[in-house]
Amino acid sequence: MKKLFFLFLIIPFLGFSQNTISQNLFTNYDNYKETSLKNRRFKHNDIQPLIAKLKETKGFEVNELGKSIEGRSISMISIGSGKTNILLWSQMHGDESTATMALFDIFNYLKQNKEILKNIKIHFIPMLNPDGAEKFTRRNAIGIDINRDAVQLQSPESKILKAARDSLNADFGFNLHDQSKYYNANRTDKPATISYLAPTYNYEKSINKTRANAMKIIVVMHTIIQQYAPGQVGRYSDDFEPRAFGDNIQKWGTSTILIESGGYQNDVEKQYIRKLNYVSILAAIHSIGTGSFENAAINKYEEIPKNDRKLFDLKITNLTFPYLGKSYTIDLGIKHFEKENKKHTVFYNMGSIVDIGDLSTYYGYKNIDANNLKFKIGETYPKIISDFETFKQLDFKKLLEQGYTSVSIDSLPKEIKFIEYPINIIDVRNISIPKNNTIPKPPVSLGNNPNFLLTKNDKVVYAIINGFVYDLSKNENGVINGIVK
Ligand SMILES: [Zn+2]
Repeated sequence: MKKLFFLFLIIPFLGFSQNTISQNLFTNYDNYKETSLKNRRFKHNDIQPLIAKLKETKGFEVNELGKSIEGRSISMISIGSGKTNILLWSQMHGDESTATMALFDIFNYLKQNKEILKNIKIHFIPMLNPDGAEKFTRRNAIGIDINRDAVQLQSPESKILKAARDSLNADFGFNLHDQSKYYNANRTDKPATISYLAPTYNYEKSINKTRANAMKIIVVMHTIIQQYAPGQVGRYSDDFEPRAFGDNIQKWGTSTILIESGGYQNDVEKQYIRKLNYVSILAAIHSIGTGSFENAAINKYEEIPKNDRKLFDLKITNLTFPYLGKSYTIDLGIKHFEKENKKHTVFYNMGSIVDIGDLSTYYGYKNIDANNLKFKIGETYPKIISDFETFKQLDFKKLLEQGYTSVSIDSLPKEIKFIEYPINIIDVRNISIPKNNTIPKPPVSLGNNPNFLLTKNDKVVYAIINGFVYDLSKNENGVINGIVK
């Protein structure tokens, strides 16, 4: 009788165990976060001291697998002694660094938590494409997309990954990428913060035991992510790509899981998404170690909404503007593009109008309904400001309320391209006089940097500066940077 009672207590808890594990990982994350990695543009040099320290850490093995085209080392870090081999690799695309940050958080976790390693041995290759990371670009030093080189192996980085997989004959593989922040979960306004794929291994998209296991792991991870980013999970296209690593590694018998880190509201440096990677990857590893993933309902994989690409940074609907004597009502889609410095370490945002017309099938991270608001072209403050110090003293809110979206500065250093203020700067040296007898351009047009005002009863409600929104009715400044024109 006593024994039975004990069983009743235990059974419900078994069902929740995966839940409890991920909750603990989420709650205690800050204890393990690798604080030296702060933003997406870290380089090979930044992770070498961390790898060197792991080499000295009990239980960790570090092996240099080879070098990139430009001679940067590519290392594999292994831990555990179980029979099941798990291989994870990140950043084969140099500008996709979110998961690399998470891997270093996971190392910190594994230094202190060895129980997860029962039955498994884990191998990590962080930053497979260090030359691409140096320039924060997708491809490697000779312009090859490593993820189209799984068969021909024309790049040393590809050879390294293939050799690692083959030498381990890994049971499970995690292929860690980033995707555009403009991906959304199909027919919803929710960004696809994380997208998953169990890549197929043939054009027929067959499901064998290898792929089925990958699908089950994804079901486990998907359930977890839904708690921390509800609705923000997508399923990546499963069209067969015969040259890609995911598809081939699945074919070679390693249950392969693709994880794509997308966008999340107000998470420019993807630190929350990094945390979601940490939680879900560790939970997945745990489920492999215990075998609990076997119980996941595989049909739930198909229930994950497909990826779509229908997001803008800012969507403005029902915008009416005058042009050539008539007025037109349209929707506007605005995106921000990152403009980097020469060292690829920092960037500023350049707003751009990327679509005009009926955008009812699209969504925005931020949305404005301009119905009942009046369009007004932003003007340049008539007085030329003498220097940057004087500029900083300006009352920007007041200038916006008066309809000014830019100011001129007399002696601005040429190298300044942007300012962290809610206004743009017009460099008087760059002003050209428009030619006569030409048809004027519409006040909004494709590719333009969006700067205008939306007014109600002659009062400015929203100032759109470099595609960002300053909400004057609420005094909310959402402008990350203005630009110098
Ligand atoms: Zn990628």
